[in-house]
Amino acid sequence: MLQHDVLVVGAGLAGMRAALAAKQAGANVAIISKVTPVRSHSNAAQGGINAALTDRGDDWKEHAYETVKGSDYLGDQDAIEILSQDAGRAVIELEHMGVVFSRGPDGLLGTRRFGGQQRARTFFVADITGQAMLHVLFEQLLKSGITLYEEWFVTSLVMEDGQCRGVVALEIKSGKLELITSPAVVLATGGCGRIYEPSTNGLIVTGDGMALAYKAGAPLMDMEMVQYHPTTLKQNGILITEAARGEGGYLLNGKGERFMDKYAPSMKELASRDVVSRSEQTEINEGRGVNGCVLLDLRHLGRQVIETKLAYINEVALDYLGISLAEAPIPIRPGMHYMMGGIKTDVHGATRVPGLYAAGETACVSVHGANRLGANSLLDTVVFGRRAGDASAAYAKERGHKNVSEAFVADEEARIKGILARSTDGDSVAKIRLEMGQVMNDNISVFRHEEGMKKAQTTIRRLKERYARVGVQNKGKVFNTGLIFSLELGYMLDVAETIAAGALARKESRGAHARVDMPDRDDANFLKHALVFRTESGPRIDWLPVTMTQWQPQKRVY
Ligand SMILES: Cc1cc2nc3c(=O)[nH]c(=O)nc-3n(C[C@H](O)[C@H](O)[C@H](O)COP(=O)(O)OP(=O)(O)OC[C@H]3O[C@@H](n4cnc5c(N)ncnc54)[C@H](O)[C@@H]3O)c2cc1C
Repeated sequence: MLQHDVLVVGAGLAGMRAALAAKQAGANVAIISKVTPVRSHSNAAQGGINAALTDRGDDWKEHAYETVKGSDYLGDQDAIEILSQDAGRAVIELEHMGVVFSRGPDGLLGTRRFGGQQRARTFFVADITGQAMLHVLFEQLLKSGITLYEEWFVTSLVMEDGQCRGVVALEIKSGKLELITSPAVVLATGGCGRIYEPSTNGLIVTGDGMALAYKAGAPLMDMEMVQYHPTTLKQNGILITEAARGEGGYLLNGKGERFMDKYAPSMKELASRDVVSRSEQTEINEGRGVNGCVLLDLRHLGRQVIETKLAYINEVALDYLGISLAEAPIPIRPGMHYMMGGIKTDVHGATRVPGLYAAGETACVSVHGANRLGANSLLDTVVFGRRAGDASAAYAKERGHKNVSEAFVADEEARIKGILARSTDGDSVAKIRLEMGQVMNDNISVFRHEEGMKKAQTTIRRLKERYARVGVQNKGKVFNTGLIFSLELGYMLDVAETIAAGALARKESRGAHARVDMPDRDDANFLKHALVFRTESGPRIDWLPVTMTQWQPQKRVY
């Protein structure tokens, strides 16, 4: 048995920041990741991280207000105030750790404009911001002496007397199951984008932590709030960063018109993501698209800007479309990108299960409400990752260690043996995963309606039945990736069910949840969070008021 004070599950930005904070607070910390830390999805973040720095006349209150408005008033304003007030410190801290943020001609840290915000307050490292941040935090982690369980996969949380006391994890290389105990566990397992097909998310983004917490009795919150990013490639869902529009890119329809003038006369291409995605989809649905897409035109930015500030996406366009952004517009369309919902936590990362914390995309604090502003997620990971690290270390210190029975490992061994013993005739994990992804993308996407959401719900239930019968080809222990895919699919199906349940329960349109059958926001009845609890008969919804501090709901125009 392995023992630590704080165990962080996930070595993306949120997990590493949490682990460093807990270590600094004096805890014996371990971090566990199913992939090499720098392969975490945070690595793919392109555009940047928001902060209102006072040295350039910016004000955290403006950032907070725009985040509240972006969230369609579903974000908790106390948490949003913390996020925007702490942002400047967080960005400077990253710079001091070694993140080489791009600078302007004046030598100061440079900014670009991102959607839903009047000012340029997005700090960036070209269009590889996440990679730059992740590598620097990994250096800090290696230096810190934190124990790293690399390529270990968490299969279950250890729950005793309603408390979380550790995890059971599979060492992927050997197939060995181990009990790792700790009075505090921080889930920083990222989003669940791959429930959708296609998605901008890495293949490993499968909602594991959300499903683990849900099973342990911690409610998930606002799961219907799934962000579709306005600019993804049709062929494979790859992201073209919002920075392309932040640097001045245009969106054109099939007739060559800058159609955003019509939908968001003031902010145009830089309206919030839900608004831009709906506008694009409307153009496409009404016959003004180009083969199911609209066009992103960057030609007027010139080669210099494209090849320095947007070099990565230029490479993507060349590789996948054979098009240089300096020479021609590229077809793009809205694609699944981010989960605003997640494990409900307080502003210290505590879930409703004692000993269980969460941070990053897997958590819902909630700072993004019904729609996240671009570049607020990287900020969320470092601000609330740090807070979860502090709080979990304090909790562990106060509670101390308890003996945990090795029987937890035997139970997991039996469960896995059961999966390996199942038949592999005909049906397969890959087939079920694809069907799940397609039904979600067809029915719980940019525009939604009752009938479609019900269809998705029924299909997910059927897929769960099929999943319970399907085995894996590889029966071995060493690097059994087939087994990992199967366990991940189990997590995804549980989480998909909560998305459908939340979407059906919210009988209004708000942020990313746009219902064609109920097109209006209904503050009188639905200015509240949807909590999803797991029961024997499926998800149960409960409601929670939104925390308001200074901003009352208004009509949202851009
Ligand atoms: C293509 C792309 C571009 C983006 N660009 C931006 C941007 O410019 N600005 C911005 O603010 N946001 C951006 N985002 C969003 C942002 O990058 C993510 O929300 C954020 O990085 C998530 O970080 P995280 O630490 O929560 O999770 P992740 O970085 O996803 O890390 C999750 C970790 O959990 C581990 N894990 C998961 N399950 C298990 C398990 N069962 N056992 C063990 N370990 C497990 C994984 O190994 C991994 O280490 C982007 C997202 C994408 C997909």
